[in-house]
Amino acid sequence: MIRWLERQFTCHAPVDDFLVSEKAAGLADGSTIVIVGGGLAGSAFARQMLMLCHKEKKRYQIYLINSTGCNYCGGLVTDLALQTLNTLYGQGIAEDVVLKKVQTCVYINSEGSFKIRIGIPMMATLRTSRFGFIGMDDSLKTRILEGLDEEVWPYLKIVEPTLVNKLTPPQETGNGCWRVTTSIIMEDGQHQAIDCDLLVLATGFRSLNRPMLKEFSQVTGYVPPPVMESSVTEIDTGSARFNNIGKDMCIIDGVIPGAVIALIPKGSGWLTLTSLGKKLTKGDLEQLFRHPVFKQHLDLDDVGEHLRCHTICPAAIFTGEADNFYGDGWVMLGDLTGYGRVLKDGYFGSFLGAYLAAHTAVYRGIMREDWRVHYHRPLRGFEIGNRVGMLLFNFNQKLNGISWFNRFFMAAAQSEGGRDNWGGPIHAAVRGITTGTIPYLLIGVFFICGLLRHLVFHPIKTWQHIRKPT
Ligand SMILES: Cc1cc2nc3c(=O)[nH]c(=O)nc-3n(C[C@H](O)[C@H](O)[C@H](O)COP(=O)(O)OP(=O)(O)OC[C@H]3O[C@@H](n4cnc5c(N)ncnc54)[C@H](O)[C@@H]3O)c2cc1C
Repeated sequence: MIRWLERQFTCHAPVDDFLVSEKAAGLADGSTIVIVGGGLAGSAFARQMLMLCHKEKKRYQIYLINSTGCNYCGGLVTDLALQTLNTLYGQGIAEDVVLKKVQTCVYINSEGSFKIRIGIPMMATLRTSRFGFIGMDDSLKTRILEGLDEEVWPYLKIVEPTLVNKLTPPQETGNGCWRVTTSIIMEDGQHQAIDCDLLVLATGFRSLNRPMLKEFSQVTGYVPPPVMESSVTEIDTGSARFNNIGKDMCIIDGVIPGAVIALIPKGSGWLTLTSLGKKLTKGDLEQLFRHPVFKQHLDLDDVGEHLRCHTICPAAIFTGEADNFYGDGWVMLGDLTGYGRVLKDGYFGSFLGAYLAAHTAVYRGIMREDWRVHYHRPLRGFEIGNRVGMLLFNFNQKLNGISWFNRFFMAAAQSEGGRDNWGGPIHAAVRGITTGTIPYLLIGVFFICGLLRHLVFHPIKTWQHIRKPT
């Protein structure tokens, strides 16, 4: 029954049939497009535009301007993101990018742990090329032209590493174009400036506090999405006394108050740690690695000495939507829009958004109303699910400070066996959170059913767990 429900409600990749019957009546042939930011969203948009150039016989001049540098580690690629990359962009993930395939997940709270099976494996990657391995974001950027007709290759110019530091609106340039000024100094001593018919911003959250984006917000009325604190670091576990999670992903819920932590295996003796809800300090990490339940899975002394970059990077993830993220002749993509599924699967949201924006530009137009109807409206499909997702997250944050509830929850989850150890509703809910395959609403229903089931079938055990002194 649980398996059947999971299968029925699995989220599938969108089909590439958007406006296929329309005539390309949008952005005029020969237009110049500048994409600022070559992360996942910017690169995906560039590829989609080139695909449409070939299909509709357009000759756009596309500049992709990207500042390099570390772009965090993260890097769990879900099956939905992979399918979307495949169906909408005709690409797969490069073999050399995958550091590990994750097929099991250990859930840990302060009272115990249980293991869940994951149906279709997820790919553990790096985002930026560091530590001698190519990252997912870099890989996609270098493969933008892969498999595309050679005729469109000259239409793309990647300008990197280059920082865009000013965006001048059409009302100031006087020629109806946005002017993009970069850090490159030209022969005449002036900064390089490119005038464009369409400006695409995909600079991610690290750009939020930079002057360029602040000025842009003042001019256009762009309001960034609400964000939640998070952090990320890489841990070398090679010298662990004991390591039982080398192949599994791990979710550690509430052991550090206010934080949901994910550990993602990247190779033997190598884990990426990401936290949601709190920016972790080295003190938090020490506390986690001293916790008796966690120690049963991984025993590593002085974790602060084993961070591959000697630091824990602060990061942000969106918890809702941005306002005014498009206008006449400009549009934003990726994280800056706040559209995608909250708390998971940013790659999927970026791929889908870039696809919709490219199709809107080519088939409909680049004015505010075009974006509103053909880009924003389809993205609004995320909104209700995301409200439920945030509700679940906030509710969980409250509950996991209550020890009797943690014991009850753990006992209920541990009592679920199921056929082939697939588990019952609680396993399905945790699997849904980990893999992103089912909607948040169903995840919530699974949690409630799992807890009620335990309460009804094991009332005495439940009472004992609740009563057990801490
Ligand atoms: C810690 C962390 C872990 C994550 N883990 C996962 C995960 O496991 N799976 C998943 O699906 N999603 C994950 N996400 C979310 C996912 O990474 C993002 O949703 C996705 O990368 C968004 O891509 P983007 O292109 O919008 O922005 P980014 O990836 O941030 O790219 C922005 C790019 O713009 C460039 N740039 C910025 N300013 C300028 C400028 N002024 N001039 C030129 N270039 C500029 C930057 O160098 C960068 O290359 C994670 C996010 C975080 C913060």
